[in-house]
Amino acid sequence: MVAFAVPDPMGGARLRSVNPATGEEIESFAEFTAKEVDACVAKAEAAFRNWRGTPFKDRAERLRAVAEVLRRHAREYAETMAREMGKPVHDGAAEVEKCAKACEFYADNAAKFLADETVATEAKKSFLRYEPIGPVLAVMPWNFPLWQVFRFAAPALMAGNVGLLKHASNVTRCSLGIEGAFLEAGFPEGVFQSLVLGSGGVAPLVRDPRIKAVSVTGSEKAGASVAEVAGASVKKVVLELGGSDPFVVLRDADVEKAAKAGAEARCINAGQSCIAAKRFVIEAAVYDEFLAAFTDSMRHLRVGDPLREDTQVGPLARADLREELDRQVLVSAERGAKVHLGGKPIEGAGSFYRPTVLADVRPGMPAYEEEVFGPVAAIARAKDEREAIRIANDTRYGLGASLWTRDVDRGLRLAGELEAGMVSVNRRVQSDPRLPFGGVKASGYGRELGSLGIREFVNAKTIVVGP
Ligand code: NAP
Repeated sequence: MVAFAVPDPMGGARLRSVNPATGEEIESFAEFTAKEVDACVAKAEAAFRNWRGTPFKDRAERLRAVAEVLRRHAREYAETMAREMGKPVHDGAAEVEKCAKACEFYADNAAKFLADETVATEAKKSFLRYEPIGPVLAVMPWNFPLWQVFRFAAPALMAGNVGLLKHASNVTRCSLGIEGAFLEAGFPEGVFQSLVLGSGGVAPLVRDPRIKAVSVTGSEKAGASVAEVAGASVKKVVLELGGSDPFVVLRDADVEKAAKAGAEARCINAGQSCIAAKRFVIEAAVYDEFLAAFTDSMRHLRVGDPLREDTQVGPLARADLREELDRQVLVSAERGAKVHLGGKPIEGAGSFYRPTVLADVRPGMPAYEEEVFGPVAAIARAKDEREAIRIANDTRYGLGASLWTRDVDRGLRLAGELEAGMVSVNRRVQSDPRLPFGGVKASGYGRELGSLGIREFVNAKTIVVGP
């Protein structure tokens, strides 16, 4: 069994895990007291003193062992995610595998990414050395409870830092399970710790001088709030925030393929993904054809119990998230959006919502203006390529855009015009440990993954030897 720690029941407030498929509370956890949090930070600081000097090959060995632990317990992790936040077990198992791959990727490549870099100058020797900075706080969301954490932890720990995780309050069992994986893999105590903490506990931690930097994945509101506190303490922050990503289909696209990929891109994790396609911008010449094919794909998605192997769309992670989604749909419809499919919650237990297609979405509607976190697609019509790019960029966010055309040169030219941290031509946006991931505008700043991700939490030290 993974060493799931059990917090002290004498602590303060409790964090509750509620099964979104049934609405029933599974268990609750006592929030760490200030004293317990302080002890964790002290432990992290002490662990850093040794870990920073551990050779890359030893760190890599430990991280490969984590990959093994994850694979060994893949089913347990997938079921824990299904119970705590409603992810279908099939997708949960794929998420665990992706985490294992990210561990292996950084085990294989960290030494290369962080090797000294000589820069020729008139000095005898001048070079850059990448050094770890210390304990880094990770504030993480519930939607990919393992993946979000590992894409932070694998590079940060390989760089020689130590990590403290404040996970979302509804996925505490996942959070403790992640800490358990590091311990089971033989990581020294204190190199990676999970704090059982609500969001109120974040600001004091960010201000703590022993915490050297913060990584936040979550909503724009949470990111801005943490960045404000970190800014006052002059601390580095990486922000991976929300998105309202465009999925642009031009008249020369393979419409059928785009429609199928679009439905997958919208409904991954019941639509609760930062890089889910959210606004579909379709050129008028293929609008009707796309709408018909896309609606057909959305209609055939299997919604149901996340513990069933064949479920494609589970419930939304919390009841309040479903209420908010329903509000966005109702108000968009009141303002003229056409409900082409779905448009309401599924009656009965749990926070299920019907896969929904809103057509003729325009500015001023929540489905156009806000991040829509659920299986609800907003379809907007563009008269030509120029208008399609304008609508795609007409958002405060800029995470990942997807663009469909049979003319790859045209796709590459337009990729340069899209205001996004990532652009995919003729495929949906997906994260990949080998490629940097991150956004622009209100989607945040900094990068995770790839060679850039591991350089976020390091001191790029310039060393010059005279004369
Ligand atoms: P959230 O409500 O912002 O929560 C994210 C984390 O921040 C949680 O641990 C939460 O703790 C904490 N938090 C919330 N408010 C805070 C505050 N004022 N100060 C300090 N910490 C605070 O987001 P979510 O609902 O979990 O996740 C969905 C959002 O994350 C969406 O906007 C999605 O697009 C975004 N996201 C972005 C990426 C990316 O890579 N760009 C990836 C995944 C998700 P509590 O749970 O205790 O409140």
